[in-house]
This record gives sequence, structure tokens and C-alpha cells, in this order.
Amino acid sequence: MTDFSQIFVGGQWRAGGGGLADSIDPADGSLVARHGVASVADVDEAVAAGHRAAADAEWRGMLPHVRARLLHRIGDAIEAQAEEIAALQTADTGKTLGETRALALSAAGTFRYTAAALETLDDALTTPRGPFMTMSVHEPIGVVGAITPWNSPIASDAQKVAPALAAGNAVILKPAEWTSLVSLKFARIVEAAGLPAGLLSVLPGPGATVGDAIVRHPGVGKISFTGGTVTGKRIAAIAGEKLMPVSLELGGKSPTIVFPDADIDHAIAGIMFGIFSSSGQSCIAGSRLFVHRSIHDAFLARLVERTQALRVGRGTQSGTQVAPLVHFAHRDKVAAYVEAAQADGARIMCGGSAPRGAGYDDGAYYLPTIIAGADHASAICQEEVFGPVLVAIPFDDEDHLVAQANDSVYGLACGIWTRDFARAYALARRIAAGTVWINTYKQFSISTPFGGVKESGMGREKGREGIRAYMQQKSLYWGLDPQPLPWANG
Ligand code: NAP
Repeated sequence: MTDFSQIFVGGQWRAGGGGLADSIDPADGSLVARHGVASVADVDEAVAAGHRAAADAEWRGMLPHVRARLLHRIGDAIEAQAEEIAALQTADTGKTLGETRALALSAAGTFRYTAAALETLDDALTTPRGPFMTMSVHEPIGVVGAITPWNSPIASDAQKVAPALAAGNAVILKPAEWTSLVSLKFARIVEAAGLPAGLLSVLPGPGATVGDAIVRHPGVGKISFTGGTVTGKRIAAIAGEKLMPVSLELGGKSPTIVFPDADIDHAIAGIMFGIFSSSGQSCIAGSRLFVHRSIHDAFLARLVERTQALRVGRGTQSGTQVAPLVHFAHRDKVAAYVEAAQADGARIMCGGSAPRGAGYDDGAYYLPTIIAGADHASAICQEEVFGPVLVAIPFDDEDHLVAQANDSVYGLACGIWTRDFARAYALARRIAAGTVWINTYKQFSISTPFGGVKESGMGREKGREGIRAYMQQKSLYWGLDPQPLPWANG
């Protein structure tokens, strides 16, 4: 059984300066564990240890294929403990075991892909423009801060820690307050796999103090942040003051579009998965559904029927499709959005409340909800609810559709359902989004870059180039001219 009371500071397991906090199982409100909380002094210590570890000659000089072996060992260890990680993450977040298993395996895959990419990542000889040879090489930044949200902890931790280590940095990881357990477990796995001490610190604690101290710390050279847009903007402002690179993976309000020629069974399955899996707590949730008016009412009737049949229950129960939300406070926030939409005149087609009865009353559950008749300017169409709430909107012509789909501060993802590939391609290029899925939704690949436009973020994660985001480029000029430079000779 993992001891969660200690935090991981510069390679040492010890009590955090911030005391202890409770992790609550949202399925029934029970205590999962008490975990250690860091203080600002712990941040100072972790950054100092990170600098020592990152500067160590053995780590700095470690050849990429040797460092890749270490990343492979971490990936293997995550996979070997995937069941344990999944059970822990289900208790901490409420998510279904099917999902947390997939997240653990995806974290293992992230380490392996990053290892393979690292082994084959070339520096470049650039085309010479004079009597010299020119090279573009890449070096580590030093100490990187990684700040992650609560919705997919092990996967988001891996998505930042793997490329940051591959690039030769030390990492200070701050998980979300509500879901710190799996990140502490992750630290134990990474340590046991042989990562030299000091290269990873895991500091649970409040964003406003511990997270803020990491961002402001003069010894931290980059922040990789995933979370809400409000927090992301605050971090970007501080990064601007420090002239520090920052990558931001932020919120979304993604449109999903259904044309009359779509394969309707596929579209319904994809839309349901896109908004109701993870109980809608997904940055790329397809939360705005645009359906062509000619099929809108029939399509919605089928969607509502299928949605009402979804199995809502504990994440540990086999067959559960919609698990509780991460926290009671978050469930109440989701409920408030739906109530406000109703007060604004929108119609609740299904759901719209917490389920009642034995097994539900003690948990943070919310029924999968479909809303129609909302004004596109209203909060339910414009703001990220981050829960199992879908708003359906009819459309007539494509120009108006594009204008409405793009009428959002966000630009994270989009789904298009049609059999007309030329139309799908043309539309995909007109939608302001970092990712567009055509005839599928919420599918991920570590080999494909991911990120948002507009207020959904800056920078990209994943892909071979994902490692570069944690490096600084340097140019080398090698003089080859047998003659001295002419200027000094007059
Ligand atoms: P959040 O409130 O912004 O928190 C994210 C992380 O930032 C947490 O670890 C939080 O710590 C920390 N934090 C809060 N205030 C901070 C500050 N002033 N300085 C430094 N760190 C601070 O977001 P959330 O509610 O946890 O997560 C949900 C959001 O994440 C949604 O908007 C979702 O769309 C977004 N998200 C985006 C992606 C993507 O890839 N684009 C993926 C997943 C989630 P505490 O928990 O201790 O407050």
C-alpha cells in the first residue's frame, strides 16, 4: 500500500510543509487517503535539487539512446502496475475502471513513444551561406514546472514528464488538489525505475500558493500547464514578466456537426462518447451539437432515447458508462449551469438533475443531459460546463454554421459527421480548432500533435516535436575559411 502522507521533494520522500489534505471518493463521499501537501519552501528545495540534478555531468551527457532506455523502463513499470494505478485513480476521480485503465496504459505508451522519438530525433546541419559549417542543436531548459488538472491525472502527468525528461530537464510536477494520489504513486514508479534523484519532484498543494510559487520561481525556466483558461492566462502573464516560455492546454466548447448524409448510427455513438464519456469532464468534450435542420428533430429524438439508456453508476461497477463527477462542488457547478439555461428558456430534453435513490444519494452524480432551444449567446452555449451536458442547435446553411461554430472564445476541437469527404475537408479547414475529427471523435494518438487555438491554449504537446518544446535551440558556426576574416586586414 502506497504511503501518500509523504511528498517527493528533490528525490526525498518526506512530510510536506503544507500538512495533509483529504482525498475523497466522489462515488460515496468516503475518505480514500490523506496525502501530503507541499509548501513554498518545498518548492524552493525542489527547484534547487532540480538544478543540481539537471546539471549533473552524467545526466547532461547521457546519450539519447541510453536516456531512452530509462524512459522505456518507466513505461514498462507503469504498464505492470496499470491495474493498481487504475483502481487508485478511480477512487480518487470517480472515473470508470475502463477509462482509468486506458489512461494508465496511455501513460505507459507516452513514455515508450517518447523514448523512440528521442532515439531518432536529429539535430541539423543547416545549409551553409559562407565559408563555415552551420549546425542547429538543442539543449535542455533546466528545471521545468508541470502543472496538471484533475480530469486525467496519470495521462497528463506522463504527457509532460516524459518529454521534459527526454529533453534532459528536471521536472517539478504539481498535480491538482482534488487528485494528487496517482501523481504520488507515479513518483514512486519513476523512482523505482531508476531516475536519478532530484530530476522529478511531485508537490501536491493549492494552485494559488504552490502552483503560483512554481510559476514565479526564478529557477524555473518553463511552465507546461494544462487546466482552465482563467488560470492559464494568469500563468501566461507571469511568464511574460519573466520572459519564460510557457505552453498552455486550456478549456474548450467544441462543436460537433451532423449533416443529413452522415452515417447516423456512427454519429450518435460518436456524439454520445464525445460528451458523456468521462462524464463530460474532458477538455475536448463535444458539448455543442449542430444538426442540420432537415434531420434535427428525428436525430435528437434518437439521441435522447439512447442517452436515457446510459448506465449511471460507480466507476468500479462493471457496465457503468457515466460515473460520478470528480467532486461534489463540481457537480453543483454543473447543476447550476443547467438551471440557468432552463431559467433562460432552454428545454431539457433528458437528464437535468442528479439521479436519486440508493447508490446515488451519497455520490457526486449527474444525469447525462441534453438541452435544446438555447440562445447561442447564452452561457450554456458559450461557457465550458465540464460535465455531461450537451446543447443541441439546428443549422440551415454552411456559412451560418461556420460562423456559429466559430462564435466561441475557445478553439480546441471539432467533430464532423458526413459521407461527403470534400465537404468534410473544406469545413475542417474553416473551423477554428486545434483538432478536427471526421466521422470519429475523441480519439487520441501520442504521435499526433495536440493543442488549441484562441483561448484554448498555445503550443502543442505530443508528436516527435513534443520533445523540442522542452528544449532550447542553439546555433553553431564552424569557420572553415583558410584565410582570416577580411575586415581586420582593412
Ligand atoms: P484549473 O483550476 O485551472 O487547475 C489546473 C491546475 O492549475 C491545478 O493543478 C491547479 O491546482 C493549478 N492552479 C490553480 N491556480 C493556479 C495558479 N494561480 N497558479 C498555478 N497553478 C494553479 O483547472 P481544473 O479545474 O483543474 O481543470 C479543468 C480545466 O482543465 C478545464 O478547463 C479543462 O478544459 C482543462 N483541460 C484542458 C486540457 C487540454 O489539453 N486542453 C486537458 C484537460 C483539462 P489546484 O487544483 O490545487 O487548484
